[in-house]
Amino acid sequence: MQALSAERLLRAWELGRGRHPIDRAVLLHALAEPDADPNALADQPLGRRNRAVLALRTATFGRQLPAWLDCPACGERLELSLDSATLEALATPADGPVEVAGLRFRLPTSRDLAAVAGDTSADAAALHLLEHCLIAAPDAPTPALSTLIEAASDALEQADPWADPSFASTCGACGHSWDVRLDIAAFLWDELDARARRLLDEVHLLASAYGWPEADILALSEPRRAAYLQRVEGVSA
Ligand SMILES: [Zn+2]
Repeated sequence: MQALSAERLLRAWELGRGRHPIDRAVLLHALAEPDADPNALADQPLGRRNRAVLALRTATFGRQLPAWLDCPACGERLELSLDSATLEALATPADGPVEVAGLRFRLPTSRDLAAVAGDTSADAAALHLLEHCLIAAPDAPTPALSTLIEAASDALEQADPWADPSFASTCGACGHSWDVRLDIAAFLWDELDARARRLLDEVHLLASAYGWPEADILALSEPRRAAYLQRVEGVSA
């Protein structure tokens, strides 16, 4: 997996900044798998998407995922750094459908999530998602999916632990322990957004000082760009 270059990173930011978070996740998946058909990536199981996005994130920003959390019990602000190896140890997604109470479901995809994104309650979205993922048998009666939401959601989560990964966290102030969900695509997007804004500032400063074109400034290695910025800002390197 190649790290995102400054030019590709800015291009991704430009494409994704006005989009819905699900579309951004698919965009990041396409950056991670540049040879795949972008339209087909929306039909990949969420776990496969998240794994590819994490690999892109590791190549670009390193193995540690720094984060701030508020303890839900005492409100203490906690700084933590998750190692991507913790996530890489998760089981790979199951091949083929998942069976629950005689019904077969395929693993949810980005396209399925987009289809339920407008649902007003979590329960409605969960039921709607199951309806999308149900592999219907031609002559089977309409199943009472609403009674299966919990069992089917659990089975799908077990079959694809990468779809919605979580990790255990403990508050150093009050000792409360809880599971923290990690939205890998949203996490990478926030980092990419911050890096893109910094790159724009750097291009602005260097272009103003030296008159260089944007492409030339973005093509500089990071240490070289930083060294010129220090000189522009009057700091000796
Ligand atoms: Zn606490």
